[in-house]
Amino acid sequence: MSSPMQGRCLCGAVHYRIEGPFRRFMLCHCSRCRHATGSSHASNLFCKPDQLQWLSGAEQVQRFKLQEAERFGRSFCRTCGAPVPFVSEDGTYVNVPAGSLDDAPGILPQARIFCASRAVWDDASMDAVPCFDAYPVDIS
Ligand SMILES: [Zn+2]
Ligand SMILES: [Zn+2]
Repeated sequence: MSSPMQGRCLCGAVHYRIEGPFRRFMLCHCSRCRHATGSSHASNLFCKPDQLQWLSGAEQVQRFKLQEAERFGRSFCRTCGAPVPFVSEDGTYVNVPAGSLDDAPGILPQARIFCASRAVWDDASMDAVPCFDAYPVDIS
């Protein structure tokens, strides 16, 4: 995939650009990622800090470092709370939340990690859950 790619937070205040390619794409089921996303897993793309450029809202980016964790941290928009790229403390990598990209990342997930920490409802039976392109008409 040729670059660049762009992404943003939910409210649009934070807008960024990534000069590809991404190096890794991991789906992480660890409990930290589950709590941080409120979902079954985090979809984490990785690149180097010099590939990231904030286009707007850099001052809106709030960092959060989990004290007891060696590496775990998150960045999010102060206004809408949506995850945005997190530059590691030591400046060696950037974790880009895949869902925040507006463009295709040019890479497919390479691995699911920390699967032992999967939510109990997130197992192989998920493949059998019906898919809809939007809300099904009978949702209540
Ligand atoms: Zn926002
Ligand atoms: Zn994780």
